[in-house]
Amino acid sequence: MKGARFVGEGRIAIERVAPPQPGKGEVLLRVTNCALCGSDLRPLRSGWPVTPGHEILGRVDQPGHAWHGRRALVYIPVFCGHCEDCRAGNTHVCRNATDLMGWQRDGGYAEALAVPEQCLLPVPDDIPDRLAPLLLDTIGTTAHGLRLAQKVVPRGEALVLGAGPIGLGALLVLRGLGYAPIFVVEPGDYRARFAESLGATRLKPANAAARRFPLVVEASGKDPARQMAFEVVAPNGAIVQFGESDAWTITENKAIRRKDFSILRSFYFPIGDHAANIDLLRAHRAEYERLVDDQAGFDGLQDLFDAFKRGEKLKPLFVP
Ligand SMILES: [Zn+2]
Ligand SMILES: [Zn+2]
Repeated sequence: MKGARFVGEGRIAIERVAPPQPGKGEVLLRVTNCALCGSDLRPLRSGWPVTPGHEILGRVDQPGHAWHGRRALVYIPVFCGHCEDCRAGNTHVCRNATDLMGWQRDGGYAEALAVPEQCLLPVPDDIPDRLAPLLLDTIGTTAHGLRLAQKVVPRGEALVLGAGPIGLGALLVLRGLGYAPIFVVEPGDYRARFAESLGATRLKPANAAARRFPLVVEASGKDPARQMAFEVVAPNGAIVQFGESDAWTITENKAIRRKDFSILRSFYFPIGDHAANIDLLRAHRAEYERLVDDQAGFDGLQDLFDAFKRGEKLKPLFVP
């Protein structure tokens, strides 16, 4: 079987790998597609010990199993289902989940993988293959974080910092939740123009820095954007932080110190949100269609990642 490995310094090797051997309580999933994610860029730089890829759609190939022949998305945290967090519905923060699919266990940049049964998410027939992976990070992660933010700032203006896949996903969810007007700061023209086509107003960093916003969505993971989020959030406002990085450096200045505000850091989403996330996809399907702007197989995966890294692609797919 073929699988892709991140070997470091941005290089991808396509290798012959051993076919997955599903253990007890697991099924074999043949990969239909796997969406590229900004969080892949860190392991792409450093190299990674398992097959990466964590926004996976596939078809179960496990004769005799209840899921055999069905399409399924892969929920990333391998949750236990019985701890206090899982029982409260917060499967994404399960205290016993040490493994994340595509991070500690082999993921979706391959022909197939083994998936624990509890991580299989059903895909209704009206959702096409190419849109299904958006239900994970692009919609699931952003909608969960913004549902948390709604409790603090239920309406009004919002600023999105970074219009990569997460920022654009957040923009669509913000619109769906009724926030307006929505502003965006994004250095790349391709992504910024796309955000504008979704109804956002592009601001230069200096212009955004001169204003205050009740809700700030930090979706870049870059220190300057994090610094800016702390400074431009309005008193009693909220920051939702999605971007990730190895470390961050913030200078606590007067703009930060003399203000009440909330910071919401959120990770992924509770598995019970899946049905509501499907409704969000259905409600804005035409816009989500436009996010999926390219695809490649094993042969084109390196070039696709290079273009994605340069900000020239929004949410491309690996299709083995
Ligand atoms: Zn992702
Ligand atoms: Zn648990």
